[in-house]
Amino acid sequence: MSVPREGGCACGAVRYRLTSEPLFIHCCHCLNCQRQTGSAFVINALIEADRVEVLSGTPQPVEAPRDDGSAQTIFRCPICQIAVFSEYGRPEVRFVRAGTLDDPSTVAPDVHIYTRSKLDWVTLPESVPAFEAYYDSKKLWPAASLERLAAVMR
Ligand SMILES: [Zn+2]
Ligand SMILES: [Zn+2]
Repeated sequence: MSVPREGGCACGAVRYRLTSEPLFIHCCHCLNCQRQTGSAFVINALIEADRVEVLSGTPQPVEAPRDDGSAQTIFRCPICQIAVFSEYGRPEVRFVRAGTLDDPSTVAPDVHIYTRSKLDWVTLPESVPAFEAYYDSKKLWPAASLERLAAVMR
């Protein structure tokens, strides 16, 4: 395994380490992600919750309403309020906001999703699969990642 990735919030109170490679990297262009980030998309590194080792601080869960009426749990630094990861219904998998990694350049999207609301001036690389809405992870994820997911979703 390569060197574990670390990251954290802006003020330094929250620090975390990913103890393995992520399962898969999402670049999501949906309206919820645009609103939550105030930006064009979010980059989420999906990884088993027990592989996100919190080194310092206690990220606080905040429930954020989504357009479909559901809520999404976003974990924020209690001091500077930067969002470090979120959860979509299943606590077994964390969606780590890859922009909070110390070196965000070490991950790149494996898939672009919800491109139906992608901003026009964002040009996607042809080498990465892109989908109008969600996608079939069983077809796209490496076998090893699917096995890891199955192991925590029992
Ligand atoms: Zn902070
Ligand atoms: Zn999204």
